[in-house]
This record gives sequence, C-alpha cells and structure tokens, in this order.
Amino acid sequence: MKLHCLGTAGYHPSEARHTACFFLPEPGIAFDAGSSLFRLHGLIATESISVLLSHTHLDHVMGLTFFWDLLGGNTPLKRIHIYAQREKIDAIREHLFHSSLFPVIPPFEWHVLEDLGPRFELGGAKCSWFPLEHPGGAVGYRLDFPGVSLAYVTDTTCEDDSEYWRNLQGVDWLVHECNFTDQEKKMARHTGHSWPTEVVAQAAKHGVERLILTHFNPMVSHPDPVGLREVLQKRRLENTPEQAPRLIELARDNMAFELI
Ligand SMILES: [Zn+2]
Ligand SMILES: [Zn+2]
Repeated sequence: MKLHCLGTAGYHPSEARHTACFFLPEPGIAFDAGSSLFRLHGLIATESISVLLSHTHLDHVMGLTFFWDLLGGNTPLKRIHIYAQREKIDAIREHLFHSSLFPVIPPFEWHVLEDLGPRFELGGAKCSWFPLEHPGGAVGYRLDFPGVSLAYVTDTTCEDDSEYWRNLQGVDWLVHECNFTDQEKKMARHTGHSWPTEVVAQAAKHGVERLILTHFNPMVSHPDPVGLREVLQKRRLENTPEQAPRLIELARDNMAFELI
C-alpha cells in the first residue's frame, strides 16, 4: 500500500511545496485537502474516496473547491466522502462554499466524527480520531489496517505531556507536522505548531517505527527546513536512551512511501 505526500507545506503554497494533502490510492483515503489536492488527478483508482480533515484552516481545506475537476469522467471518481468534526463541517458549508466565495458546492457526502464515535471502520481499516493542541481545534487520525498502521497528526503543538501521544503508541508510520525549528519554539507554541527535538523525542518514547515530518514553512527552500540533521546529531552525542524511530524522513511534495 502506497502513501503519497502530495503537499508538505503549511500556511500557503510556494514554488517547491503545496499545502497539506496525503493520499492512499488503494483504499481511496486522503488526509486533508490543501492546495496540493489537484495532484489527486493522476492517482485516483477508486470510484469513491474519503477525505479525513484535520481541521478547517485554509491550508487544509482550500482544495475542496477543486473537486469539480476530479469528477465527471476525468477519473473513476463518483462519490466523495468528507469526514470532520461537526462544527468544522458547518464552517465549510457556511463559509468556504458561500456563493460569494465559490459558485456551486460539489456533491459531497458528509460524515460527522462525533456521530461515528471515536473508532469506526473505513476502507478496510479501523479508523480512530483524537484531539490535538491547535488554536480553533484540530484532530489527528490513526488507521489500523491488517498488517500495517499509519497516523496523520497536524496541526498541533507537541509537548512532553501532550495527551494525543497515547493514541500513537507503537504505530508503524507516523506523519507528524513540524512547522518550526527548535530556535522558533516560542512562535511554534504561540501558533499551535511543533519543533523537531520534541517530535523526535516523543516518537522515540512512544515506540513509533517510522516518522515522516511535514507541514513546513513554505518560505524556507533548504532541503532540511527544520534543522533535523543537527537534532539527530545532538541526540546521538547525548546518547539518548530511547531508540529513535528506525526511519525519520522530511517529506517533500510528490514523494511516496511503500507502507507494506
Ligand atoms: Zn496548517
Ligand atoms: Zn491550522
């Protein structure tokens, strides 16, 4: 099963990165609907897809307006299921698809997370969702497929005592946001985002097998936008007791991972 990193920026698109969307073509599951959602075009392999929204800040939902180009014979797509918390669905319908902002809403089928409960079946997986730490609220998701598990966690501040890590124990693959560097910790806390030292430390502490960092500052064009190399070197020098995840990657747009 392949995971496609379609958009790896937060906030706004840049020449190198579009905003948040990750896609599993096999079960037809997308995480978030940022500006990179147009890239689903060549990847949709199912008649129905499910979009799991973390929250409704524009960098995660603007791509919902692109769906007309993905329907109607251009792809196999016939049905689009959107999953989000109730107040987020209301905000999308009332604001993003207000006729002053967008002419006609695509034919979405809405699924309210609170009505489904904390765990439900989706595309052959057990899907669970849990609150994160972000202004306005956001949720993370974990999908447990037979043989492989994957979690998607953005936008959030990651602290040593952050409750949401309880849901990530032993996960095979974790996609976690890392918008800021260690030096920008104050700004990260202020805006509800993360920095690499804490994310790596928590991933190690909770037995995460493979960690993919994403949601980077679009204005930083360096291939290591958050100084991950120095963070890992420091952990090695300090001989940190917990095992680091066996793979830590900085996501780039259009990168794909074979999950199983
Ligand atoms: Zn964001
Ligand atoms: Zn946000």
